[in-house]
Amino acid sequence: EIRVRFAPSPTGPFHIGGARSALFNWLLAKKYQNGKLILRIEDTDRARSTKESEENIKEALKWLGITWDEGIDVGGEYGPYRQTERLDIYKEYTDRLIAEGKAYYCYCTDEELEAERKSLMEKNEMPIYQGRCRHLTEEQKAKFIAEGRKPTIRFRTPENGQIVFDDLVRGKMCFESNGVGDFVIVKSDGIPVYNYAVVIDDASMKITHVIRAEEHLSNTPRQVVLYEALGLKVPTFGHISLILGKDKTKMSKRHGATSVEQYRKLGYLPEAIVNFLALLGWAPNSEQEIFSSEELIQEFSMDRVAKNPAVFDIDKLNWINAHYMKEADPQLITDLAVPHLVEAGYIKGELTDEGKAKLKEFVAVVQDHLSYAAQIVDYAGIYFNDDVVIEGEDAEEAKAMLLDEEIPAVIALFKEKLNALEIVDATGVKPILKAITKELKVGGKKVFMPIRIAMTGQMHGPDLVQLIAVLGRERVIQRIDKTMQ
Ligand code: GLU
Repeated sequence: EIRVRFAPSPTGPFHIGGARSALFNWLLAKKYQNGKLILRIEDTDRARSTKESEENIKEALKWLGITWDEGIDVGGEYGPYRQTERLDIYKEYTDRLIAEGKAYYCYCTDEELEAERKSLMEKNEMPIYQGRCRHLTEEQKAKFIAEGRKPTIRFRTPENGQIVFDDLVRGKMCFESNGVGDFVIVKSDGIPVYNYAVVIDDASMKITHVIRAEEHLSNTPRQVVLYEALGLKVPTFGHISLILGKDKTKMSKRHGATSVEQYRKLGYLPEAIVNFLALLGWAPNSEQEIFSSEELIQEFSMDRVAKNPAVFDIDKLNWINAHYMKEADPQLITDLAVPHLVEAGYIKGELTDEGKAKLKEFVAVVQDHLSYAAQIVDYAGIYFNDDVVIEGEDAEEAKAMLLDEEIPAVIALFKEKLNALEIVDATGVKPILKAITKELKVGGKKVFMPIRIAMTGQMHGPDLVQLIAVLGRERVIQRIDKTMQ
């Protein structure tokens, strides 16, 4: 029975890398019968952890459809699921380690440790703790305490040993225990460090597989020695590769949006983000690129998770998102678009019900052109600006086109036919344009182009027939008259 966990530290925006880890764990939990995903909050860094960040993570997971079976909010047999609520549990383990001589109090100050580290570095030696407090007598301890020193607790790492574990992604991993040294497991304020709390939590929550980001690979040897010292079963590890930007450097703000929240606000769809994240480090057994969550659950396996870094390709995300945008309900895209239209100044105040309905019709016309909802702003002028301005790269060409001698007749006939139309909708408008080409014996371009340019100021854009239908007779004629005068 598979039990996996996602264990974020709520210390800032929820990074897409975190979402990818959550997703891989969720896919595994869903793939296996009775698989469980546990959501645990690792908030031992009290200074940096915030409730807001925790809320943010939960919101983002829910938005992505990543549900958890146990953990904060939903509870479960092995709670509490927030590390700061588990301090008593850690203390029991710590007392045991101390009693067995597997851990000891260390009275070294930060300054002393820093000086030691510096001198080791100068000698080109590994900066590991030299063990001054390893074998303190009771008198020495008493003296340090009298000096007011507050001890940390260090784990006594077995010397001259090898730390070995199998990694689902990276294969057999082997570390020298001497390279790890005695490390702090409980800080002087009594709060355990991540490497320690994580072991107790994963073991006591009966986690079978620890799937997490590669940046934790260097922590794993410490965790493995702790499992062994505590007599706990070591879970199976799988460290998934880093996410790099297209320039092959570590993904950062320089590469654009890095948090789930940012993508959500830009109007990306959760199905697309899930689809894209799944392909960051995992590859299917085929050329298929569009996957529903159900398909991902079917297809996903750790065997096909790559060792080499994943590259965050925003063009691919946009392509995937555009795919889901095309299928989406225009009402949904409209709702996502409105805040951007407000921000860009196109919408002022509340829209009337009619305004909303009209806007939705327009969104339906341009939705196929959008990679994500915020791009509506690039098209909004077509809908909102009745004062047509011919500008942009091909403005000269566009203006020249309107001066063609055949154009006045085309425009006149178009207006006449549009005026005569009983219901101005796509079905009604389409034959009009065809009829003009026939009656005036001109090519389609000679009809479409001037109407489009006069109506929108542009030579290219969304479907003309639908656009005319959305804008309606009055606005279309008014725009054309103004441009052509
Ligand atoms: N709290 C750790 C982090 O957010 C989780 C590490 C782990 O999965 O073990 O990076």
